[in-house]
Amino acid sequence: MSSPPWLVVVLVLASGVAALVASSSLVAAVVAQLAVVGVCVPVVVWCRRAAVASDGRWASGWRLLTLAAVLFPAANLVTVVSVVLPDRGINSLIYPLQGGAMLAVLTALVVLPRPRRSRGLTLRTWLDVAVLVSSVALVGAVVLMGGELRSSAGADLVFALAYPTASLAMLAVAYELSRHHVQADRPELAFLTAAFAVWLVGATAYAALTPDAYVAPAPVSWTVGVGSLLLGLAARVAARPRGAGSELGERTARVVLAAPEASVVLAALTVVLGGLPLGPQRVLAAVVAAVVIARHLVVTSDARRFHWRLEREVAERTTELRRMTERYVRILDTVGDGIVSIGPSGRVIFVNAAARRLLVARDGELVGRDACEALCTPAPHDCPFEEVGRGRVLRGVDTELRRSDGGIVPVELSAAPELRDGQELPRGAVAAFRDVSDRIAVEQVKRQFVSSVSHELRTPLTSVRGVLEMFADGEAGDLSPVGRSLAANASRGVERLSRLVDDIIDAEKLATGEFRMQCSRVPLPRLLRDAAATLQPLAAGSGVSLVVEAPGSDVVWADPDRVEQALVNLVGNAVKFSPRGSAVTVGASALDGHAVVSVRDEGPGIPGDQLEHVFERFHQVTSGDATDRGGTGLGLTITRAIVAQHGGRVWVESAEGEGATFHFTLPLAGAHGVNGRPR
Ligand code: ADP
Repeated sequence: MSSPPWLVVVLVLASGVAALVASSSLVAAVVAQLAVVGVCVPVVVWCRRAAVASDGRWASGWRLLTLAAVLFPAANLVTVVSVVLPDRGINSLIYPLQGGAMLAVLTALVVLPRPRRSRGLTLRTWLDVAVLVSSVALVGAVVLMGGELRSSAGADLVFALAYPTASLAMLAVAYELSRHHVQADRPELAFLTAAFAVWLVGATAYAALTPDAYVAPAPVSWTVGVGSLLLGLAARVAARPRGAGSELGERTARVVLAAPEASVVLAALTVVLGGLPLGPQRVLAAVVAAVVIARHLVVTSDARRFHWRLEREVAERTTELRRMTERYVRILDTVGDGIVSIGPSGRVIFVNAAARRLLVARDGELVGRDACEALCTPAPHDCPFEEVGRGRVLRGVDTELRRSDGGIVPVELSAAPELRDGQELPRGAVAAFRDVSDRIAVEQVKRQFVSSVSHELRTPLTSVRGVLEMFADGEAGDLSPVGRSLAANASRGVERLSRLVDDIIDAEKLATGEFRMQCSRVPLPRLLRDAAATLQPLAAGSGVSLVVEAPGSDVVWADPDRVEQALVNLVGNAVKFSPRGSAVTVGASALDGHAVVSVRDEGPGIPGDQLEHVFERFHQVTSGDATDRGGTGLGLTITRAIVAQHGGRVWVESAEGEGATFHFTLPLAGAHGVNGRPR
């Protein structure tokens, strides 16, 4: 049924027009009664829909309200018929129909469920109801009591009084319900309350003004019609899908909570304007004052109790927090690593005991100072705190920090930004660090030792190798076959030792920056082909085919000798680990202003947990087929150092048993240098 709203509008308008043009007030009243009947048709439909859309006691409530929406217009119809055909005597049906309707509404209001609440809240709810109802009754008493009550008697008088009393009861219970459900999304209850408030006005006016039994004056019927419409609206709201319209729920909740205050203000205004000439009016005013005071006392005492409880809770929580903070500070002070916490503005907010010791700082000396200003050494070291401030996480980074006495301490630092949900920039950071001076000193000594031993070994090894080769080739006189084979073995061993010494020296030079890169613009395909050509004999000897896939004409900004050294290491490994008959592919592509060089083989591959470690010094994979291929464990370390000196990075992708692909990046040379940087 899509027409009800239009039907209602048309009927209300028609009744208004008819009332205006009607010469007799009785005709206007009858037309208005019929209009109310018309209004109730869609209201019945909406109430029925609400009953279907609801469940449990809500559905029962709406079924009863549907019944009321049928009985009310039925009584109106009977009234109209009894006016038109006064001889039929059907007016005896009017009161049972109207009484039945009112009973149905009141039963519905009792049936609708109430949530369980604490005692204090229930008392406040009832006091709200009392304030609202007594204020409304006072308004009615002041406005109507002085007027002429119609001169009715018997059943008419009983009904004339029962009608407003029942409406007042409906208003009270409906408001009590909506007050109970004020936090749930039940705006329909507020609409119901409004409907009964309007009915109350109509009913009171009916009791006070109707001169002729049964047929209420047109304005009274219109008021009842508006009340019925509000009932229909409540039904429409109840039938809407739950969860939607919560904004409406919030708004109506605000109106419901403010209703007692609004009704008191209205009552006060009415009293100021109309005065309290009659005894019953004065009694009602005293009742209003009493319930308002009672409500005020309850609300203030509740608020005071709530305030007191809140203050006590805050005090307890503060003490608890202080204790917790002290405990954490004690824990952090027992940790051996230095810990510094930095606030959103980049200032130090906490320094633990180990950090104070490491940075030679007194208690509280660093707190409040800018972290970078207080702790960072001058360039070339990047400020780790700024990096973390940009949201980066640092793990085990070797850097240096400035001590308060001006000295410098080398540290291994990890730091993490403190991100809050949905925020991109951190609200602060925590950095943990440990002194690595001892480790660096040991590494230095180790490196120096290895380097000088290697240098000392190089010359004698070269001559031993020459002598052994001469023996093996028979150039130093004849040897027995066994002697020659022993000399050949020894020569191979010495050759491997020389390679190791060369690698150690190279790695050392790269680590200390002794190797100066001689960069120039180099065509990448040529570099790849040269490296492949160097290793072609080795590949052929191992039965491995070497494929170079280097289309295009990418030019990189690189030291060709060093890049070739890196490539030879990678391709050499690939050939070394490849089975006979397989292929090693060397290729290149461009990505984000960099050239990516790849070396792919079909060998045993590298286990996942070793992928990062193969680049470490002397690290060799110790499982399965990959062991004992006569390497030094330094090739990849050297490759990584060469690539890093070019500003690139190297990584490997591999699954065990499915070959390995090593990649490294080199800067592409733009028209005027590296990526456009002037040479
Ligand atoms: P090595 O001289 O031992 O080859 P590297 O530093 O070049 O030293 O390599 C380190 C280790 O990485 C090797 O010993 C090997 O275990 C593993 N590795 C390197 N390349 C490959 C590859 N292509 N396939 C399988 N394992 C490899």
